[in-house]
This record gives sequence, structure tokens and C-alpha cells, in this order.
Amino acid sequence: MTMEHYIQRFARLNANKNRKMWTAVTTHRAPHKPLLLLAVLDLFAQDSLTTNLIELSPELVEIFDLYWHKVRPPSQRGSILYPFYYLQSEGFWHLLPHPGQESALAVYRPNAGLSALNTLILGATLDDDLYWLLCTSESRHLLRTVLIDTYFAPELHALLLEQGAVNAAAYQYSQELLTKAHTVLKESTQEVNDIPPPVRDQGFRRVIVRAYDHRCAICGVRILTADGHTAVAAAHIIPWSVSHNDDPRNGLALCHLCHWTFDQGLVTFSDQYQVKTSPQLASTPNLPGHLLTFAGRPLIGPMDEALRPFVDSIRWHRQEVFHGR
Ligand SMILES: [Zn+2]
Repeated sequence: MTMEHYIQRFARLNANKNRKMWTAVTTHRAPHKPLLLLAVLDLFAQDSLTTNLIELSPELVEIFDLYWHKVRPPSQRGSILYPFYYLQSEGFWHLLPHPGQESALAVYRPNAGLSALNTLILGATLDDDLYWLLCTSESRHLLRTVLIDTYFAPELHALLLEQGAVNAAAYQYSQELLTKAHTVLKESTQEVNDIPPPVRDQGFRRVIVRAYDHRCAICGVRILTADGHTAVAAAHIIPWSVSHNDDPRNGLALCHLCHWTFDQGLVTFSDQYQVKTSPQLASTPNLPGHLLTFAGRPLIGPMDEALRPFVDSIRWHRQEVFHGR
């Protein structure tokens, strides 16, 4: 199949056309499929797809969500699950079952949820011709333009292009942070203040959430919702406003409750990476909460020992933020 064929396919995706539900912003159509394809183009741009297999990964979910939030379709939750499943009907997108799961996949329906689908499939594959086309930036640029021009109102075009550029830059930044963390050079010579905040935030988050495998470093919670959303955020140990340091060793993956508790100085770590809890947690009117039970427990993660937090950062947090009494 030629490029021309896929331009036609991308321009004629089947989508829900309920005008009561979908406004002119998304050309009166459900935007799920074009947004998923934009996210897939970004994975190709990162060189993340070295084989023809698109996994339904938390990373893909995050990129899809970033696009979704740019579009903000009225009164609709954006779940990646529906387009990931229903793109099959377009002819170029094929779900690849785990060996032995073919018949279970045949009767699967998306209301069973994302993790149920992930137990049945390895991912999606594209037509081989399309896969090879998307490995070149010219083809990606052409198809990205088709998707944006066809399915979105003109006022969104620049925003969606910009999101693609931010995604690419954030990926680049995350790779640089990892490389720096694995080299002996202590200080970076690059001027991080010149990097746009959305790129920094997204790049830092990408490194931290992956390093800790979506697990909270204090309580160990690891939740991925039915839509593939993760419970953890990337926290700076010494805040960015003070340190201007996105080194992964100045970061922790924390769930929202632990993040708040950490920022309020109610928990911290010892030099030996053990959780320390503030006496304030035990005082009235607080109930003896589950947070107190973490005292003395080891920090959970990261999987790569080289990314464990700087002791200097932890000391700073203990001295400047933690309530030791
Ligand atoms: Zn937690």
C-alpha cells in the first residue's frame, strides 16, 4: 500500500458523529481515534517503536491524555481503550493476541476494561507498509497534518502541533536526565532555565514514574485505573523553585497523599533511606493513621540503584521541611 492509501484511510476514520455530543471543536466527531494516532506518531518520533508492536502502555496512555486535555471535548471522559480496540475496524490496525488468547479476544468488549484487554493482547500491529512509512519523519509529518486538519477546528491546529513538539522535547529531556544521572559529571553545563516548563515537567515526570515503576516510594501503592491512569506523581525532594535540579536523584515517585505529606514535612527519610514520620502525625486530632506504620520502613524503589535519591537532597528536606517535633 502506498502513502496515498494511508492518507485516505487517516482522513476517513469511522467515528461517532452525534452532533449533540461532539461540537465544532472536534468537527462534530468523536476525537478518540485521531488523538490515539497522534500519540502513536509521537512514539515513532521517539524511536520507541523498534518493532511493529504498539503496546497499550502507561506511556501511551499519558501521551493520549495530554492530547485529550488540549482538545477538552465537552462532557466526555477520554479513555484510550475505545480507540485502541475499535481502530481494528480501519483495516490497518491489528490486535495481536497472546498465544492461546485468540478466542477470548474474539469475545472481549471494551467495557471489560483496559487491564483485561492487556491480559489478552501483546499490543497492536500496523500494516507492514504503514509501519515502515511511519519510521520516516516526512511521512509522520504528512499524516499528522492530515489528522489535525481533518478532525479539529482551526483554532486547535497550532495547539496540537505544539503538544507534539512538547512530547518530543520532553522525551529528549528525559533521556538527557537519565544519561546525566549515569555519568560521573556532577554538574550539568546545560542551561536548564531555558527549557520550557511543560517540557521539563513532562520529561522529569517520565523519568521518575518509570524509574519507580508507578509505585509510591513511601507507601508502595501502585494503582493503574481501568483507563490506565497512574496514582503516582513525580516529586522533587528539593523543590524546583529552590534547586532548579531535575536530576532523577532529586526526585521521588509519590502517590498524592504521600506527596502532600512529604511536602508538608510530615514524613521524610533518614540517610539510610528509612521513612521517618513526624510526631505531628500522632498528635490530636489526628487519628493514628496508616502513615505512622511506615516509620522505619525502607524507601521503595527505584529499580535502578543508580537513581536512588541524593543523600544531600534528603538531608536538605529533613532540615528545611520536616517537622521533627
Ligand atoms: Zn503513597
